[in-house]
Amino acid sequence: MKTPTLEPASHWLARLPEEWCAVLEEWGEPGYRGKQVFGWIHKRGVLDPASMTNLPKSLRAKLKDEGVGPLPLDVVRAHDASDKTRKLLVRMHDGLDVETVLIPQLVKDPDVDDADRSEDLKAGLKPGTVVTQCISSQVGCAMGCVFCASGVAGLQRHLSAAEIVAQVIEGRARLDDEERLRNVVLMGMGEPLHNYDEVARALVLLTHPDGIGLSTRRVTLSTSGLVPAIDRLAKDFDGKVALAISLHAVDDEARSKIMPVNRKYPLSELVACLKRYPMPKRRRITIEYTLIRGVNDDVRDADRMVKLLKGVPVKVNLIPMNPIAESALEAPAWDGVHAFRDRLRERGVTATIRRQRGNDVDAACGQLALYGPDGERKEGRRKRLDVVES
Ligand code: SAH
Ligand code: SF4
Repeated sequence: MKTPTLEPASHWLARLPEEWCAVLEEWGEPGYRGKQVFGWIHKRGVLDPASMTNLPKSLRAKLKDEGVGPLPLDVVRAHDASDKTRKLLVRMHDGLDVETVLIPQLVKDPDVDDADRSEDLKAGLKPGTVVTQCISSQVGCAMGCVFCASGVAGLQRHLSAAEIVAQVIEGRARLDDEERLRNVVLMGMGEPLHNYDEVARALVLLTHPDGIGLSTRRVTLSTSGLVPAIDRLAKDFDGKVALAISLHAVDDEARSKIMPVNRKYPLSELVACLKRYPMPKRRRITIEYTLIRGVNDDVRDADRMVKLLKGVPVKVNLIPMNPIAESALEAPAWDGVHAFRDRLRERGVTATIRRQRGNDVDAACGQLALYGPDGERKEGRRKRLDVVES
């Protein structure tokens, strides 16, 4: 895969094999050990240098001095749902929290690509053992979408590449023996493309064949539609990273009301950008559409969506809005959700309804709420970047 030009790593966990190699050479160690160090950390999840048994003792000691060891986060709460969805509340070293969720794939999950399903079967993975992890890219979010808990809270800070990858290393370590982490979705807290440099490094780390080794097309980045950053992602990763777009409305007036980002990048620009995204053959862009009663749930909006997205290879994922404390907005009744889906299907568009997973642990992706370990809702410091002006 093409590797984009990256900003320097700010943490040992964010170093690539060649960067380890340069560090080791400076220490007077042979460069080939860079790949070994990277492999211990990322492929095997061994973080204590003392356990890196094929390295000389002196190097293990140097790695320890370098800080190699604990992840830059702690799990402060872990909740398991009856459907084996696991939600982890992770605390960064400055005390800020984000959430990450492990979601076992359903045996007949409509969201799963057929090619991916048969690949998993060929790899000997029994149905139900394939796991998707939803990860966060920022603490809070600056985009200000009115239906989203992260948007209402505002941005507290970006996560570093190390903090993003650490969620996956921690998540993977919690899988059962037979389970395999095969998919990662950037659909937790934050707008990944607003934190481009750290997210790009995290994508390279997650998909590195000597490390965690996820297939690039099994990493899905969800964005509210930052057009120049989507173009940059397309260029940097040759369109190999799977893309999900939060559409949520089909005309500019309605979209700008619920998603301020639309005032900067209106639908015509977003759709033009999707048309030039270099999608691999037979792959489709996921369109996320949170259905909100009385706002965007009219079946005529389904017709408009089909018209708007003509010529873009898409599949639509409908998400009945999860209620949030800060807003009176709510999901339509179930028959409305089904009618919307059916209308899209009648018009030849693949449409599914996102199943609520792990509801008993409040683990719906995309509305990862800001709770403290005691279950108390935390007050986010309100800081919203002006995405419209910037
Ligand atoms: N910032 C990115 C990714 C995180 S959100 C983005 O917006 O795409 C993942 C998905 O959940 C997005 O489609 C988001 O719009 C949606 N979402 C956010 N809050 C929600 C809520 N309360 N109910 C349903 N979906 C929600
Ligand atoms: Fe940010 Fe996405 Fe929430 Fe919008 S929906 S506020 S972009 S996390």
